[in-house]
Amino acid sequence: MTMLKIENIKKHFCTEEIETIALNGVTFNIKEGEFVAVMGPSGCGKSTLLNILGLLDNPTNGDYTLLDKEVGKLKERDRTLFRKGNIGFIFQSFNLIDDLSVFENIELPLIYLKVKAKERKERVEALLKRMNITHRAGHFPQQLSGGQQQRVAIARAVVCNPKLILADEPTGNLDSTNGKEVMELLTELNREGATVIMVTHSQHDAQYADRVLNLFDGKLVKDENIVM
Ligand code: ADP
Ligand code: MG
Repeated sequence: MTMLKIENIKKHFCTEEIETIALNGVTFNIKEGEFVAVMGPSGCGKSTLLNILGLLDNPTNGDYTLLDKEVGKLKERDRTLFRKGNIGFIFQSFNLIDDLSVFENIELPLIYLKVKAKERKERVEALLKRMNITHRAGHFPQQLSGGQQQRVAIARAVVCNPKLILADEPTGNLDSTNGKEVMELLTELNREGATVIMVTHSQHDAQYADRVLNLFDGKLVKDENIVM
């Protein structure tokens, strides 16, 4: 089954006199259960693409169908609900909320989706255990190592059991040991059924994927399946 389909996606950014064409007509399909790496030189449009796939930004032109929904036609509120219910987003810089504890950071998406307190507690506790950070539940992000912060961010991204996990250079700020742990977690989540799309600079990280999309200058230049 198809997870998502984009057709001729374009994104222009206009700032004062400068117009940047970040994406210049990108088309592809991704099947349910795939693990896809997106690669390409800095500035070629990888983050712009991932933000559009994650409904954090809108394309200037083009069609996007996610889980059989034409997302461009959804009203803002419905889009937000659809995003929070189906997509988990992981960032290079973790993007945790400094004023909330580890527990509260992970719980936040469940509160938004109006999950009852008892179930919230169970789900957060299960993830704290899985991510090996139970002892850090009451601590704040600044008190954690980078690897721990990224594990909290992954827990927050998956606490609503998203069908689609998007990760923008998730190991970019980590040393190799913590990076490997993050890649192994993403692989596990993929094996459990989530579709994963990850932007990466690292050939090493890309080896965890079963397909690589190469972008250059806002265009898809290569789409290769990796046969292990
Ligand atoms: P990558 O993630 O591949 O490094 P990006 O998607 O971040 O690249 O950026 C692609 C191009 O779009 C770059 O030229 C960048 O400067 C430009 N760009 C990205 N976001 C914005 C923005 N919000 N406003 C203006 N230009 C932007
Ligand atoms: Mg980027």
